[in-house]
Amino acid sequence: MSEYDYDLFTIGAGSGGVRASRVASAYGAKVAVAEEYRVGGTCVIRGCVPKKMLVYGAHFAEDLEDCRNFGWEIEGKKFDWIKLRDAVLADVDRLNGAYTDTLENHGVEIINERAEISGPHEITLASGRKVTAKYILVAVGARPFMPQFPGSEHAISSNEAFHLDKVPESIIIAGGGYIANEFAGIFNEFGSKVTIVNRSDQLLRSYDESLRDRLLQISIMKGIDFKFNTHFESIEKTEDGQYKVRFTSGEERVVECVMFAVGRVPNIEGLGLENAGVELGERGEIKVDRFSKTNVDHIYAVGDVTDRVQLTPVAIREGQAFADTVFGGGDPVAVDHSCIPSAVFSHPPIAAVGLTEGEARNQCGSVKIYQSDFRPMKNVLAGRNERSLFKMVCDAADDRILGIHMIAPEAPEMMQAAAVAVKAGLTKADFDATTAIHPSMAEELVLLK
Ligand code: NDP
Repeated sequence: MSEYDYDLFTIGAGSGGVRASRVASAYGAKVAVAEEYRVGGTCVIRGCVPKKMLVYGAHFAEDLEDCRNFGWEIEGKKFDWIKLRDAVLADVDRLNGAYTDTLENHGVEIINERAEISGPHEITLASGRKVTAKYILVAVGARPFMPQFPGSEHAISSNEAFHLDKVPESIIIAGGGYIANEFAGIFNEFGSKVTIVNRSDQLLRSYDESLRDRLLQISIMKGIDFKFNTHFESIEKTEDGQYKVRFTSGEERVVECVMFAVGRVPNIEGLGLENAGVELGERGEIKVDRFSKTNVDHIYAVGDVTDRVQLTPVAIREGQAFADTVFGGGDPVAVDHSCIPSAVFSHPPIAAVGLTEGEARNQCGSVKIYQSDFRPMKNVLAGRNERSLFKMVCDAADDRILGIHMIAPEAPEMMQAAAVAVKAGLTKADFDATTAIHPSMAEELVLLK
């Protein structure tokens, strides 16, 4: 008999926590996972998945325009937000059920309560019940950062965006990162007057400059308004239910909705980490080593709460590696956080892997750049003046590909395969030696000049 109630107690049933729990259980561990909200976490419940469905829904606005030159005339078209919203939320319910089933089928006990660490090996549940565990995994994710200033309580975050009763006629989205650009595209396609307001003059800071410039140019062309180097002073509710936003420059705008998308902060409050002596970093993140272990030997953390790379597939890998390391019986497994492909589901989307041109020049000195700036065939016939850009960054010394960057329809779909090549250390010559698939956008990858 073990001296503990569980071999593993996971706090948080999001992407990282679910993977870790079910794999640990499959290795024979007795596992419980506590979740105070819904099984699936940010990605499934109020992030990547429902967002991608809204992106699809939004894109029909362009498809229905573009189809004309392909001979289609659609009369009486109209958009019903409530229908889309409810279909998306119903699918979220389905996924919540599917994740719950996965855990239960793997013999993981789900405890639908908030959990707090109350001693080195002890967890106290919201009901007051106390349990003990040999290992504790903290996988509680992150939440939107909401700046505080007069009237800031009137602003929503992406969490609420999925539940709106109507598409706002006008919206200010604060931030210039992933969420701001993705939701700007969504609301713009649905007919909102969208203004992105960012504190600096840079969008999507971590992406290659040429792609960022291209997205800005296309977004402006589509009707999205940008205000850079701008800071909020206050938000005031008007008599007719709108919001008067005042910036520190003195300028004012009245809009129907204000949304903040200015980063996400680790969810560490009320977890009782101090009761076990778990160390935090400067941004409030749980500090971990390369095996996701905290400074306390039997307490681990994975996913957004560690603020390493806030991406679902990374959290899943960290959860898997944790379970392999602690319960797998083999060598410890560390997640390789280098060369992670990523995408922004803007209109059009951006996808990237590896170093940007700027990073490569700083790190390698001599680099070679290959590019293709083209108008996709479908856009040509549709009469859509929207160009795509592919860029390959290579080490001039040995031709090795250091990064690939794309902005194009379906760029994330193309990038996944290209990322394999970059991760494997292939060269530009390897791409050149590959026959093109014609006609496709992806063929530009092997025809770069
Ligand atoms: P991002 O980190 O992408 O962008 C944050 C933006 O907010 C930046 O433009 C930044 O400005 C601005 N900002 C940061 N702090 C402040 C502040 N204190 N006041 C005002 N502005 C501020 O954050 P998001 O919220 O868009 O997304 C959070 C994370 O979620 C992403 O980093 C990503 O990891 C993940 N995510 C991934 C997606 C995907 O994979 N497609 C989709 C959505 C989210 P500046 O850069 O000018 O300093």
